[in-house]
Amino acid sequence: MSAAIPDLRPIEAFLDPTHHALAAQVSAFASHTLAPRPEPADDDAARREARVLLAELEHGTLDPIRAQDWRACCLAREALAAASPLADAVFALQALGLVPMLLSGNQPMIDRWVGDGIAGRAMAAFAMTEPEAGSDVAAMATTARRDGGDYVLDGRKVFISNAGIADVYTVFASTDRSAGGKGISCFVVPAETPGFQFVRPQVLSSPHPLGEIAFESCRVPAANRLAEEGKGFGLGLRTLDRLRATVGAAACGMGARALQEALAHARSRRQFGKPLAEFQLVQDKLARMATDLTAARLLVYHAAWTADRGAERVTREAAMAKSYATEAAQRIVDDAVQILGGAGVLASHPVDRLYRSVRALRIYEGTTEIQRIVIAAQLVQEAETRPSG
Ligand SMILES: Cc1cc2nc3c(=O)[nH]c(=O)nc-3n(C[C@H](O)[C@H](O)[C@H](O)COP(=O)(O)OP(=O)(O)OC[C@H]3O[C@@H](n4cnc5c(N)ncnc54)[C@H](O)[C@@H]3O)c2cc1C
Repeated sequence: MSAAIPDLRPIEAFLDPTHHALAAQVSAFASHTLAPRPEPADDDAARREARVLLAELEHGTLDPIRAQDWRACCLAREALAAASPLADAVFALQALGLVPMLLSGNQPMIDRWVGDGIAGRAMAAFAMTEPEAGSDVAAMATTARRDGGDYVLDGRKVFISNAGIADVYTVFASTDRSAGGKGISCFVVPAETPGFQFVRPQVLSSPHPLGEIAFESCRVPAANRLAEEGKGFGLGLRTLDRLRATVGAAACGMGARALQEALAHARSRRQFGKPLAEFQLVQDKLARMATDLTAARLLVYHAAWTADRGAERVTREAAMAKSYATEAAQRIVDDAVQILGGAGVLASHPVDRLYRSVRALRIYEGTTEIQRIVIAAQLVQEAETRPSG
């Protein structure tokens, strides 16, 4: 079975007419070209496949990133993730690597990298996480020391998607460690820069190029700095504000595919003389899966719509969308595996692929726990500033 076109009816109120054409185009590409392909056999194959996918995603699929059309980015990720979680990751990393350049307004960097990135000629990466700085980003130890017209970077980063295969890395480093988050700056580091090093792959259970990188006296021109010195953390947060809804959209794509597979199986598989779909315990699962999925999509497209209306920060909306959708997708995919029975844990089955792929979404770009801390902090802050009475 190939991935289906996402059902736009529940989210219709959040879309513009142009979004329909885009959704149809990406879905057709995803279901005809991506869905039939076998999963790469190992990490090396996944790395090669990611580069192939980047070239193929050209043809307009990556355009919404440059346009900063977040609803379109969500539609693209939803369709891609339903067919190929690896293709979705390729889209996501182009966005994560290029959006800081766009938001910073650093025109030379935009001119050098965004066109090539959107055309699929240059692969991007986003390097924030470190061994001692995961959720606590401000604890990062990578430094960038000013030296004349350059900065010199030293340190290492782990869990970096596209590590070793990207052409350009958007890197966060501290220019003033005593200032914590207010001392973090952001730099564009081309992969061929002397002192930049791909250290090792970190192999996941699902195909996703990941790894460790290091900087040793890695010199980049000051012109490669995005935003002012010390404003890199804010730039990173603004980037994540916009892209977290798209992580939720990817989760929805995986959830929708899982529901589709489970429904098809429940209708065709007969036990005790009738289709599984006629058993009420199976119906209960299907009903909860569909309801969860619709609720998740409404939060995702509401967050993206809010960002598209020009809101400077969409922190709470994005945190709700990301945490709810990724947790919901996990439940949906798990229920789909259960409905498939033994067939659902065969490595070749799409729901097994989804089962291995959906898990990381609750962790990367801020864990569910961190999203809930963000939401609760805003609730408390609002309650404290609201006039009493
Ligand atoms: C597939 C994948 C791809 C990734 N790609 C990238 C990338 O391209 N670039 C990049 O920079 N990073 C990337 N990451 C890293 C990712 O962003 C981090 O893994 C994530 O931010 C969590 O950090 P950590 O793994 O160090 O976990 P930790 O921060 O150590 O957290 C471990 C657990 O403790 C919980 N926890 C932490 N602090 C609190 C708290 N205050 N209150 C309650 N609970 C808390 C967390 O929620 C989590 O459950 C990727 C990760 C994965 C899995």
